[in-house]
Amino acid sequence: MNTTPQKKATAGERKAAFAALYRVLKTSLYRGRTMDSLSSAEFQQVVDQANEALDVLARAIHGAPKGWQYAHLCDVCCLRYAEHFAREAGNELSTWCCTPCYQHLKAEGKLKEAPHE
Ligand SMILES: [Zn+2]
Repeated sequence: MNTTPQKKATAGERKAAFAALYRVLKTSLYRGRTMDSLSSAEFQQVVDQANEALDVLARAIHGAPKGWQYAHLCDVCCLRYAEHFAREAGNELSTWCCTPCYQHLKAEGKLKEAPHE
């Protein structure tokens, strides 16, 4: 469809991204067993690194988001960039949704409001 070359993450960036993900997952699992293994500042640093890693991997795997897409994967399926910002009834946090998931939530009557229509 689109033949413009996308900026690829370097091998080093991919390794760093994977390392951060690997570490946060390991840390989370370890923390689940030992509770106070990290200070909150240390944990926040790990979370920040993981978020950067997820951005790098998302772009490496999905390409750059299109103009109408958010630079954030769908919270529901994590398979596509989000294109909607949904408020689910009974859920305080808003949900980033791709179009198929948004339509699914809407069809199930789970949306509190539809601000982007
Ligand atoms: Zn989705």
